[in-house]
Amino acid sequence: MTLVPGPHGLLVAPGYPRRFPVTGAAAVTVGEVVLVREGPGLRTLADVARRWPALLDHEARHAAQWARWGGPVGFLPAYAAATVWSWLRTGDRHSANHFERAAGLADGGYRENPPRPLGPALVSLVRGAPARLPALSRGSRGRARPSRRRRRPTAA
Ligand SMILES: [Zn+2]
Repeated sequence: MTLVPGPHGLLVAPGYPRRFPVTGAAAVTVGEVVLVREGPGLRTLADVARRWPALLDHEARHAAQWARWGGPVGFLPAYAAATVWSWLRTGDRHSANHFERAAGLADGGYRENPPRPLGPALVSLVRGAPARLPALSRGSRGRARPSRRRRRPTAA
């Protein structure tokens, strides 16, 4: 993996070989550094531009958000809160996420899901059964395992 100068003053690392904390994302921006996921034919900046023509424009908007929101101290908790809100509202982490919307959903490669009723989402969250909600987008986490009660050993 190599960092190369990209558009908008970004440093871009095409072919980042590790898992992203956000599954399903093509890239993750940390400050002005953009890590683009590894994949067949994704070794250079030209490869990235060919596969996702507007992705680096989207990531440049995230870089500006990082700066505007105070870097990791401000941006990360705000982004996390926006992610939770989006999941509650739409069942995915980006459709109602303020930061993803402001960066351009389509430019980031995201499909927009319609809002869903908030009440059932909150109820299922409290009960720990989000798997009963309408289908989540690909790569979403947060599916609760069914609770398993431990059985007491019976005396023989
Ligand atoms: Zn994004």
